Amino acid sequence: MGCCSWFDLLFSQDSKRKPSRPATSSYSHGSSQEHLLADDTSKQLALDSSQECAPSSVQADYASPSGEEYDSPPSTPRVNGDVSSIISKAVQNHPLRRRALDPSLRNVSYDNLGLAASNSNHVWRPRHIKFSRCAIRGEDYSGKKMINNYVREGVIGIGSYSKVVLCRNVADEELYAMKIVQKSRLRKIKVAPSETALTDVYKEVSIMKELDHPNVVKLIEVIDDPQCDRLYMILEYIEGRCMFEGPGPAGGISEATARKYFKDIVAGIVYLHSCRIIHGDIKPENLLVSGSGQVKLCDFSVSQRFQGNNDELRRSPGTPVYTAPECITGATYHGRAADVWALGVTLYCMLFGRYPFIGETLQGTYDEIVHGTLKLPERLDNQLSDLLKGLLCKDPLKRMTLDQVIQHQYYIGC
Ligand code: ADP
Ligand code: MG
Repeated sequence: MGCCSWFDLLFSQDSKRKPSRPATSSYSHGSSQEHLLADDTSKQLALDSSQECAPSSVQADYASPSGEEYDSPPSTPRVNGDVSSIISKAVQNHPLRRRALDPSLRNVSYDNLGLAASNSNHVWRPRHIKFSRCAIRGEDYSGKKMINNYVREGVIGIGSYSKVVLCRNVADEELYAMKIVQKSRLRKIKVAPSETALTDVYKEVSIMKELDHPNVVKLIEVIDDPQCDRLYMILEYIEGRCMFEGPGPAGGISEATARKYFKDIVAGIVYLHSCRIIHGDIKPENLLVSGSGQVKLCDFSVSQRFQGNNDELRRSPGTPVYTAPECITGATYHGRAADVWALGVTLYCMLFGRYPFIGETLQGTYDEIVHGTLKLPERLDNQLSDLLKGLLCKDPLKRMTLDQVIQHQYYIGC
């Protein structure tokens, strides 16, 4: 990735600017401070808590110490004559913008992915994500709690580290899901030698801001006030909520519905992998179903990026019953193959309403995953049986890849 930021590009004369110090600019929208999200986990963690919330000024910080790309270019600040045209030309030609405008440069070509139906009409466009560093608490006229312009309507879900509430934006009267985390609590939870659960939240934000696909929940806004112990992620609201909890209804859901859901989930995962992102926690609780029956992947709290074609990861993925055998037995594993295993467990749950491998204890479950035999109903359709065996193949090298999944008769017949 390029080492200069949009900010550097636009203000290249400021060559001594330290990347860790946000520069003040004037991109102001609405009442709260905002800027386009910089891909910068560590800097968010280092936010100066003494920073004042001055509604008239905006902390515009597009720099990323890791040199990664940004979600979309900021609007060009007002400058005079020639300088303006030079800047605007530089912006137009900048590789990040070209990459943003041209899906093929972003390695996301839907035509090449063999993904028909659910996303064939989708055109990737850079999305503007609002970042607010000021959280103002209040109440609406009926006494409901508010954060900035969002009225809290009720709790939707409780995750391991977060609470998700339904909220209404008084600016557009639309409903959104607001994922709330408590920073001080997460800061104390170690998830790896140098990472805490809060680091994961910032990673989740930094990953989600890049994503734009019909089968992936969209991040709309982040409210992260250094003076406030809560961080709020505003997400598009998926009215059907999660597919189901646990292994699902006894006997599973209908085969036709399972097929349709499966296709959506595969489309979402293919997209993520093409963006070099491993979801890491594919399971029905993290698969939301929209009012029109479309499945969207959510919860990127344990997602990880990989470089090039090397998806070797160290940190074990999310939930034990969905964990691939190689994640239990080896020091490292390949993220894409582990996502495929979790996809297989999910399909199994959708079809049969039970887990393929489960024990009485956590160790018992791990033993089953590593050594247990896959049990399939005798009269199961051949295609489906072949697909499940391929997805739930214990050897990650022999496990079906997503390319093979989308060429499989079961998928084609979806
Ligand atoms: P955690 O990382 O704590 O598991 P999730 O992102 O999975 O949090 O959210 C917890 C639950 O909240 C989900 O299982 C789902 O039921 C609900 N939820 C999350 N995001 C949305 C959304 N955008 N629309 C509707 N419900 C959601
Ligand atoms: Mg979750």
